[in-house]
Amino acid sequence: MKNTNPLVFQLKSCRMCEGKNLERVVSLSPTPPANAFIAKKDLKTKEKFFPLQVNFCLDCGQLQLTHVVSPWLLFRNYVYVSSTSSVFIAHFEEYANDLIKRFKLNKNSHVIDIGSNDGILLKPLKKNGIKVLGVDPAVKIAKEATKNGIKTLPRYLNLKLAKEIIKRFGYADVVTANNVFAHINDLDEIVKSVKTLIKETGVFVIEFPYLVDFIEKNLFDTIYHEHLSYLSLRPLIALFKRHEMEIFDAKKVNTHGGSLRVYVKKNPAKFKVQKAVFEFIALEKKLKLDDIKTYNKFASKIEKNKRKLIKILTDLRKKNKTIAGYGAPAKGNTLLNYYKIGPNILDYIVDDSEYKQGLYTPGTHIPVVPFSKIAETRPDYIFILAWNFATPLINKLSDYKKGGGHFIIPVPEATIV
Ligand SMILES: [Zn+2]
Repeated sequence: MKNTNPLVFQLKSCRMCEGKNLERVVSLSPTPPANAFIAKKDLKTKEKFFPLQVNFCLDCGQLQLTHVVSPWLLFRNYVYVSSTSSVFIAHFEEYANDLIKRFKLNKNSHVIDIGSNDGILLKPLKKNGIKVLGVDPAVKIAKEATKNGIKTLPRYLNLKLAKEIIKRFGYADVVTANNVFAHINDLDEIVKSVKTLIKETGVFVIEFPYLVDFIEKNLFDTIYHEHLSYLSLRPLIALFKRHEMEIFDAKKVNTHGGSLRVYVKKNPAKFKVQKAVFEFIALEKKLKLDDIKTYNKFASKIEKNKRKLIKILTDLRKKNKTIAGYGAPAKGNTLLNYYKIGPNILDYIVDDSEYKQGLYTPGTHIPVVPFSKIAETRPDYIFILAWNFATPLINKLSDYKKGGGHFIIPVPEATIV
């Protein structure tokens, strides 16, 4: 069949191993891009919905979306700014210190961050005198970052750009890519480009939401069009091996419900492969991440969770309870669309990002408003869509809770606290 929609195509082979034995394991509802928040004047305009389904590769065990939506559509007008969250700022300060210590970075070192966003990792590196460069296709954010002192090229990394960067800025000691590896369709191109970009002794460090947490904590809502791959160590080892690079260390970090930071080297003689790598491989085997049955089980669990949560919400509405949403993260939109939760259930969603305030959620059209609305309207329940911030939120709103307010958390299982 001819592909009639140039904005999306179906992936016929695995992006990690190029195998063709892909099998469907999860089917969510067709959904608009998770960051395509809508202005009031556009509410009547028809939105673009794309399939949201997940395939398992029977050859290498990689979990991946069946369809790839055009990155131009997803990222060019990206509105997500990392530094709006103090949790993330602290995380990337730790990350910067980790790099400085491990690789003895100093004022002669050069770090390039791919998908650098507003420079959240590069800022603390620059503060330590290290030479930095950002690359991010989100034009507006790149421009703003450059204005704020973190030079950011508004481009996609490819071999051509890598060569251009070497000419203009020199080779890199460290290239990082955080929460972008899962976003990229052509991983071969990116690995080739990074391999070109780093010095012979250079390293590539990536961080991504870890498949182990995805499965264990039931984080199905992190399935959205931007997340093309659900990453674990074993398929990645094979990917880098194809490019004659090697993963030599890995570290668990807390962001996005549980992430893995992975260190990759170019020179086989440099950096001994650490015990942690073997430990993560053993863990992935123990959890049967290479077995399709694991994902079939996962799919039935999220169906069950869906029924439970919808019952909680509709019962509350029947009792005329008011419910507000907390957080309008991308993942929230997978959940809202899959559960068909609209303004009939959530009166509004609060979010600290000024980019999102005043807009409506894609597909479900719930208004996004500033946090102060909670104090103004005192809803009976707060449904925490940004579940990774549940603990700080509940602490922050201790008075609300004392005054009889409740919180609903959707994962790993729908619960009221
Ligand atoms: Zn594969």
